[in-house]
Amino acid sequence: MGSYSRLFIPISLLIISVSAVRYQALLNQETALATSHYQSEARQLDLYLANTVLPLAVQTDLRSVPRVLRSALPLNHNLSSIRWDNAGEHTEVLPDTSPEEQLAASVPAWFARLTGITAINSRLTVALPGGQDAILDVHYRPDLPLLQVWNRVRHQAVISAINITLIFVLLSLILASHRKLLARLTMATERFRSGDFTIRMADGATPEEQAVSRSFNSMAGDIGNMLSSLQASQKRLGEQLNETVHMQKALQKMSWQNYNDVLTGLPNRAALAARFEQELFISRERQRLLAVCLFDLDHFQSINDRHGAEAGDEILKQVAARLHDFTGQVHYAARLGGDEFVMLLCGQASIATIEQNVTLLMQELSRPYQCDQQALHMTASAGIAVYAGKELNAESLLRQADHAAYQAKLTGRNQYHFFDTNLDEEVRTHHNQRTEVRHALINGELRLYYQPKVNMRAGTVVGMEALLRWQHPRRGVLAPAQFLPLVEQTDLIIDIGEWVLRQALWQMQRWIAAGQHWVVSVNIAARHFQQPDFVSRLKTILGEFPGVRPSMLELEILESSALHDIEHVRRIIRACQALGITFALDDFGTGYSSMSYLKRLPANIVKIDQSFVRNMLNDHDDLHLVRAVIGLARSFSLTVIAEGVESIEHGARLIQLGCDLAQGYGIARPMPADAVLDWAANFVPAPQWRVAQFTETPV
Ligand code: C2E
Ligand code: MG
Ligand code: MG
Repeated sequence: MGSYSRLFIPISLLIISVSAVRYQALLNQETALATSHYQSEARQLDLYLANTVLPLAVQTDLRSVPRVLRSALPLNHNLSSIRWDNAGEHTEVLPDTSPEEQLAASVPAWFARLTGITAINSRLTVALPGGQDAILDVHYRPDLPLLQVWNRVRHQAVISAINITLIFVLLSLILASHRKLLARLTMATERFRSGDFTIRMADGATPEEQAVSRSFNSMAGDIGNMLSSLQASQKRLGEQLNETVHMQKALQKMSWQNYNDVLTGLPNRAALAARFEQELFISRERQRLLAVCLFDLDHFQSINDRHGAEAGDEILKQVAARLHDFTGQVHYAARLGGDEFVMLLCGQASIATIEQNVTLLMQELSRPYQCDQQALHMTASAGIAVYAGKELNAESLLRQADHAAYQAKLTGRNQYHFFDTNLDEEVRTHHNQRTEVRHALINGELRLYYQPKVNMRAGTVVGMEALLRWQHPRRGVLAPAQFLPLVEQTDLIIDIGEWVLRQALWQMQRWIAAGQHWVVSVNIAARHFQQPDFVSRLKTILGEFPGVRPSMLELEILESSALHDIEHVRRIIRACQALGITFALDDFGTGYSSMSYLKRLPANIVKIDQSFVRNMLNDHDDLHLVRAVIGLARSFSLTVIAEGVESIEHGARLIQLGCDLAQGYGIARPMPADAVLDWAANFVPAPQWRVAQFTETPV
């Protein structure tokens, strides 16, 4: 039974109680009224009879008594009989039955008992002159007063019944409408709870329905809004989390790449250098031989040419795997780059064991390589340098192994060759080449080319990078990679660096005269930068070009070279910055790229390495790396510029990632100084860059 239905019980009880009291009062009142009337009429008739019959008795006119009695009958309708007893003579008069009396018979007996109206019997004793007594008995019936009371009460009862019925009908209607409203509310709540947050209640006709609908709808609206803002922030949180995970992965990858070769997973040159020192120490301590074996794959280039770069990569991976399998817990394999691998054979007892191991390795490497369901054949040449505790460092041992490998190739490939000091050909070759570079500097064969740096979004040219070229009398224009590595470890790099600085400053002076105040960046080699007198010499050079403000000069140092002696580098950067010069970390992303290094190096700019930028449109890892570098730069409030922007799409994507500055073949290739002004005058930024928006929070 519902709570509404339960309401009927108290209401009914209340009605019954009120009715009982009311009808008790009504009954009492009506009964009193009818009884008093009934009794008064009876008394009047009694009196009449006494007054009319008594004189007749006194006059002994007893024969007239029945007539007088009969004449009294119409005087009281309640009369049931009059009886005259006189010395054994009986006379009884009875009234005719009236229609009311017949009706009175329909009054229920229980009602008559309830009212307590009963028959009235009166007796009149008359003393006759003869000394006898005559008796007059008069009987009254209560039927008519009873009928009167019954009719009155019944009439009231009918009215009450109609009222009560009306009350219950109205109550039921109200309850039914409330039940309907409750059912609608329950249904809407259930649907809302089961996830339909768009559910709303119809307005309804009554004010109650409208009030309930309004409050449900406003609650549902509020919760819906809360939920959607919760969902939105959950989504944002998810995206941020995703970004953070990607950035972490990218950073992990960067630091993994510092010590590992990405293609093969083997340790790289940097890792080898660290391990080398340990192994040199151990072999000195244990008086064992350490063999440095440099493996160079034979005719690897022709595999690349014939079967494609993918096949080449696959072979390099398989070579790495075979070398790695050989190392066990004892030896150490690394990839130097290209098709060159190094194996450190540690704890060797004799040259004979080294030879045995190398022979095994050569056999292992000459097994066919499974590539794209075909077996490719490939051999390797090996050069071996042996460390037996003499004053030799890792670098010279590697160089010796390199020379030996060269010899092995010369003697007909798939061979190994131990280093022989008498055949140190390459040293001499290198020496000759270095001399050539020095002559180039002295003879004025070096040139500076300039590559523009632009703000893609603003469509402005912001500066130039000075890039070195060698105008070789026979070989044409040579890129730095073709000659700088020869001199990077010698003091010649310092002389070249100073020439570049002077040349760039001189060029800036000319551009300033032409109205162009471009910032020009100059690449500084690690060895040059680490000279104790670097800052003072730089000051001297700047002093030679008073028309150029030092703030227009930018120095680029390779991220990797900045990390050798951080404290020293930091001091130099600070001293240069005190002069107004800005600093960029070049090829950023290829070194350690860790937050702690970036924090300690007070550089102004990071240049994202071109290798990542170039592949960012189709390589997810590189995209994440670019994004991570932009994020790092932002979090340290550094300017970030992308190198290697080869297309308009690269530029648009970089703008979306939050990097507006760029340099690359997609904007302009490095050009001779006298082509720069014309290029700048005709520079039109890509329309896609103007509409591109910074849409992604890098991290
Ligand atoms: P860097 O400083 O990172 O310079 C950018 C190199 O990327 C330049 O090569 C430039 O020509 C090339 N480059 C620019 N945009 C693109 C592009 O969209 N796609 C591709 N594939 N390459 C692009 P460059 O001129 O051969 O210089 C190579 C490196 O040699 C320089 O890298 C820098 O480390 C070094 N270098 C150049 N000039 C000097 C110099 O005067 N002194 C020193 N110490 N090093 C220099
Ligand atoms: Mg550079
Ligand atoms: Mg670079």
